Amino acid sequence: MANADDMLRVARTRAPELAAPGLSPRPRRKVAVLACMDTRIDLFPMLGLERGDAHIIRNAGGLATDDAIRSLSASQRLLGTEEIVVVMHEGCGLHGASEDEFAQALAADGVLPTWRLGAFDDLETALRQNLARLRSSRELPAREHIRGFIFDPESGALREVHVP
Ligand SMILES: [Zn+2]
Repeated sequence: MANADDMLRVARTRAPELAAPGLSPRPRRKVAVLACMDTRIDLFPMLGLERGDAHIIRNAGGLATDDAIRSLSASQRLLGTEEIVVVMHEGCGLHGASEDEFAQALAADGVLPTWRLGAFDDLETALRQNLARLRSSRELPAREHIRGFIFDPESGALREVHVP
């Protein structure tokens, strides 16, 4: 379990390329991306992003949880973003997971969290619900430009899911 040590070592050797002197913390392209934490999703090359372009908010599923909305609210209200792109994906760990079993496992450890896992049975439906939650969140002053994409890690394809 030496990852943390390795990471520190690598970062030390790369300080010159990691430095961003003078780069604004305000996203250059005024966009925030909410995406699943899945290891196969490499957002920067996928979306043509460079450092400084966008806020990246990731969690299990890429779901519009309270905390994701907190981050998006800060992104818009404090740092000027005006657009949100949501990226969910085929083969997500939450797809078909059991909300009940997960809650039972937590309960067995004496934990009764206020949050839910966010398991879903249909990916497109989950994405549409996700977009609907964002579009109805008054924490976000800019809700005109919210789009949702599905990535397929097997083929590399990214497609949009349109909301009726
Ligand atoms: Zn996922």
